[in-house]
Amino acid sequence: MLHKKSHIERDEEKFVFKADTSSTPIFGSAESDVLLPREKIGQKMMDPRIAYQLVSDEMMHDGNPRYNLCTFVQTYMEEEARKIMLDSMATNAIDKSEYPQTTEIEKRCVNIIANLWNANPKEDYLGTSTVGSSEACMLGGMAMKFRWRKRAQALGIDTNAKKPNLIVSSGYQVVWEKFCVYWDVELREVPLSDWHDLTLNAQKAIDLCDDYTIGIVPIMGITYTGAFDDIVTLDRLLSEYNQQAKISVSIHVDAASGGLYLPFMEPDLAWDFRLENVISISTSGHKYGLIYPGIGWVMWRDKQFLPDELIFKVAYLGDFEPTFQINFSRSGSQIWAQYYCFVRWGFEGYRAVHAKTRDVGLFLARGIKALGLFDMINGGENIPIVCWAMNAQAQEEKQWDLYDLADRLRFNGWQVPAYPLPANFQNVSVMRIVVRADQSMEQMSLFLKDLKQAIKELDTAKLGKHKRLSEENGVVPMGYTH
Ligand SMILES: *Cc1c(COP(=O)(O)O)cnc(C)c1O
Repeated sequence: MLHKKSHIERDEEKFVFKADTSSTPIFGSAESDVLLPREKIGQKMMDPRIAYQLVSDEMMHDGNPRYNLCTFVQTYMEEEARKIMLDSMATNAIDKSEYPQTTEIEKRCVNIIANLWNANPKEDYLGTSTVGSSEACMLGGMAMKFRWRKRAQALGIDTNAKKPNLIVSSGYQVVWEKFCVYWDVELREVPLSDWHDLTLNAQKAIDLCDDYTIGIVPIMGITYTGAFDDIVTLDRLLSEYNQQAKISVSIHVDAASGGLYLPFMEPDLAWDFRLENVISISTSGHKYGLIYPGIGWVMWRDKQFLPDELIFKVAYLGDFEPTFQINFSRSGSQIWAQYYCFVRWGFEGYRAVHAKTRDVGLFLARGIKALGLFDMINGGENIPIVCWAMNAQAQEEKQWDLYDLADRLRFNGWQVPAYPLPANFQNVSVMRIVVRADQSMEQMSLFLKDLKQAIKELDTAKLGKHKRLSEENGVVPMGYTH
């Protein structure tokens, strides 16, 4: 008796695929009928037309980055900026001799940023581009550690007796934990203690200082909430401390999100080189510097704060150029893009984009507050981040929580994270939206409409409360806090 074959087997028997030609439809090709390689490289070559389609189709699954409301990182650049990036893609930023103009453009960016951060003309600032704030923070931290060690040895402090320490609030971004693990430094956390002010307590930070402190790291734009640490107070208290301390302590500002936002939006707020104890600052060019990932910047207010051992020399125009980066080769395209944006927008343009972003953030916060279910933790008045928790009454009455709301918003393509706050407030879950340059009033009003609808649906859905991943193991998914 003849066995009935499945149609898949039948296909395999009948069809011997002909080699693709230039007229083969992409979705009639042999390649589109099989899986792409995932463990071993394939044997045969593939038509670029087909390969492009199949590989770029994989990207669809990531959703639309512009609907990703979790991230600080730039998701839109103008056509000309994209072109600049493509044009410079093949340059290598480390080859100073071969690409002298990339080096020159980087220097111009360093000057522009140092001036935005009020570098003191009497000092000799120094800075570099990096892959992002993470590399920039590592460099800032390394410089502090090396400088501390040299000074401590000169003062007769036994540098082997204890690990050096770094002081930061428990609202720190994960890079500081990495820094401390990688460079063998003790992370001294200043706990967040006031629900109405989730920032670094300057006095408590000073109280943690000792002869082994390499520095204090305040944050301008706390990743979780968008709040600013009070660096003016910290600087004042630190000056007092330093007068009687055996070894002085200084400040590195982690301005990943605020560094290229505040100079345009709050030019009178002192947080930068105007404050005497601030010796270095890092930022992400790909956050409010408005460049696609990944670029960052780190600056020292004066050469003396970057120890010589960290500087390497590479050939440049018959001479040598100092470099102090962890990475070696990488494309110059982000540097070119940063310079393009400075040229293209100028001060007014950056301010226009950021002012719009702030307006949209404030609008969003008002809309969310008006729902009557949430306590606002940041209403967009600092970094344009809107961050909220369910109020006590809503927690009591509702059968759903912020994680359910996040799931529901996904139906419309919006990605909005819900996560627990850092130490001391881990039992509080929040939702956070980072308002970015490419979000218009129109888009966020559409979001508010979807938010209301999502809440309505959750109110009428039959839900059982379920245990959360984060409640079980205390882990905050990385992507939710960057
Ligand atoms: C985003 C962020 C970082 C890390 O920056 P990358 O550019 O992503 O490496 C570090 N610190 C703070 C406060 C941040 O917000």
